[in-house]
This record gives sequence, C-alpha cells and structure tokens, in this order.
Amino acid sequence: MAKSPTAHLDTQLQHAGTATFDPVLGAAPVALPSMRTSTVRFENLDALDRAQADKARGERSVTYGRVGMDTHAALEDIFCKLEGGERAFLASSGLGAITLALFSVLDSGDHVIVADCAYGPVRYLDKTVLGRMNIQVSYSRATIADLASQLRPNTRVLYVESPGSLLFEMLDMPALAQFARQHDLILVTDNTWGSGYVYRPLDLGADISVVAGTKYVGGHSDLMLGAVVAKDADLSRRINDTHYAMGYSISADDAWLAIRGVRTLPIRMRQTAEHALAICRYLSGRPEVARIFHPAWPDDPGHALWQRDCTGSNGMLAVELKMDNAAARRFVDSLSLFGIGFSWGGFESLVQLVDHAALRSHGYWQANDNAIVRLHIGLESPQDLIADLTQALEVAA
Ligand SMILES: *Cc1c(COP(=O)(O)O)cnc(C)c1O
Repeated sequence: MAKSPTAHLDTQLQHAGTATFDPVLGAAPVALPSMRTSTVRFENLDALDRAQADKARGERSVTYGRVGMDTHAALEDIFCKLEGGERAFLASSGLGAITLALFSVLDSGDHVIVADCAYGPVRYLDKTVLGRMNIQVSYSRATIADLASQLRPNTRVLYVESPGSLLFEMLDMPALAQFARQHDLILVTDNTWGSGYVYRPLDLGADISVVAGTKYVGGHSDLMLGAVVAKDADLSRRINDTHYAMGYSISADDAWLAIRGVRTLPIRMRQTAEHALAICRYLSGRPEVARIFHPAWPDDPGHALWQRDCTGSNGMLAVELKMDNAAARRFVDSLSLFGIGFSWGGFESLVQLVDHAALRSHGYWQANDNAIVRLHIGLESPQDLIADLTQALEVAA
C-alpha cells in the first residue's frame, strides 16, 4: 500500500500498519491481526544471532514478547508518523510514558524544570519517586524569563506541556527549544493534546514528545496507552535501553485497538474541534460565563501561537463561570449528556469541576473565586449539548 512519505498524514494513517501478503497465497487481511506472544521462535541459531545483534546496536528487533512483534512495530511506526519522530516506544499508560521519558534522561543529582501547567500527576511522581532518587524538580511558568531564573548548574531537562493541562495555556515551543539548546537542556514535552495530529512539537524543536494514547489516539475510552517519541539517535538509544531495562510493555491487543482507533483520528479530531468551537460560541453569549479557555477560540490569549504552530484543535475547553463552588456543583450534577469523569479524547462528552487547589499552582491562572469547569466535547450533536448546558446553567442559577 502507499509508502510515499510525501502523502498527506491522513493518507499515511490509513495505509500504515496493514498486514503483508502471505508469500504463498498472495493474500492478506487489511487489518493487521493482534500478534499476541510471549516467546518468539527462531528458525535457526543464525536468525537468533541476527536478532540479538540488532538489539545490541539499539535497533528495533524481535527477540521476546515483552518488546512485541508486528502489531507493536506497526503502532510504533504510526506514532513516528504522527509526531515526525524516528523511534517510538510504547508504555502501558500516558503516565508510564512520562516516567519512561524522565527515567531515560535524568540521573540522580540532576535538576529538572517542569512547566507549572503540566499534567498534575507529574507532581505526584516528583513527590513520591523523583525526590527519593535525589532528582530535584522546580516548577515554573514556561516563559523564558521565568525559566531562566530557575536554572541551576545541574539542570539537565526542561519538561513542558503545550497547551497545558486544565487551562490549555499555549507555550511558545520554538522559543523553549532555543532556550533549551542555549542551556544544554533536553526538552521533553507532553503532546497528548495534539496527539501528533494537530500539533508536532518535534518539528518545532522539542527533543522528546510524550503522548497519552489513552486519549485521542485510542479515541474510544476503552484503552490505556502511552508513547515516547524521539528523533535523535542518541536519545532514542537511551530511551530504548531504559524501556528494555525497566520492562515497559503493552499487550498486543491494546496495540491493535490503538491502530484501529488511529484510522479515524483525523475525522474524530476535526469533528470534536468543530463541536468545541460551536460550544465556545454558545458559551460566549451566556451571562454566566466570565472566560473561555480554548486556544482555537479567538479571544484565548494563546490564539496567535495556536494559529502559528497548530494545524487544528480538539474538543477540550475550560470555562470560568461567575458562580461559587456550590452553584457550579449544581451545574455539573444537572448535566445529563456530559459524564462526570477523568480522561478525555473519546467519543463522548465529559465534565470536570476543576479543583482550585490544582489551579493555584498554575501561574497562568488569574486567581479568583469563580468556578472553573473543564469540558470534553464529544461527537454528540452540538445542539443537544447546548440544550443540556442551557438547562444546567438554569438549574445552577
Ligand atoms: C491523561 C493524560 C496523561 C496520562 O495518561 P494516562 O494514560 O491516563 O496515564 C498524561 N498527560 C496528559 C496531558 C493527560 O491528559
């Protein structure tokens, strides 16, 4: 099938990871089967030696079930296409991918600067594990002036996320990459929001991109998955070694589900992005709404950066409501089409009442007592979602 690297990404995503023809039958299924295995069997010792030699060189090789076979390789290739990387490594969750990336590039005694808008559990990783390993972590607004004030002689890594969690703060990735190069830091970024489809930080100078495939890649709220993608050979080698040594591994069935999910990633992301804008337009006309956080929305402070660096958007937005916590709880509880739950990127709409304690650590937030509600807009009819939001706003008031 189409191998042309110049084909549009949409085309590549449909033609990547298809099964190869049986040499005798000249036939193949379209979808690659889930190749479950623990043991890999070799035809003879020469074949085993070749596989071991590839592995020793840090190349992808089939040696044992933990590193996977065809289904895993196909998904790795898909993540490389999405992110514009050379090598991708799979982990059993997005948070697992974050730990894989950080353990690959940090040593005991190192210091890492983490953007204060990064996914909350990174702080938990710091508190419970990184501190114990004598890895120092500072949190900072991801502006160059703020970051510069956090530099230490042992700073090795800059860890960011754009747009950031909760309020979707757009970061200036090319400027961060330049800062990282100047100070010899490895720039790691969480690209779950863009999922490689609407935002490609490796093209903008980041060294390592981390994606929670649980969200838009899987796309059906039935899968946990993470990926770490790099372009540089030396970094890939370090991630490869850590991935192998630490036993990161995913089931072939989960890889299969993700490949199935990614076929519709383009249309799902386009559609949810369109729905999210319709919801923004509606919310902007409501008297209860103080502010909308969604970089594709023209009033968002990150809109210019979004226009410059992104090729699309998604269904995530947050809204500041002129309501206290009790009224906001009534609002959330009154919604019937929005599930109350963590995660996002599936087909269905979700709502979260954002905890002010979590927001207080984001320098981007202009602290006040208004409630912040995060919405994931799914594939339901936007008219129905708007009707649901309207009745819930009325109940809250
Ligand atoms: C959900 C999420 C993760 C973690 O992914 P899991 O698969 O749930 O572990 C990481 N980063 C961001 C930005 C996320 O939203």
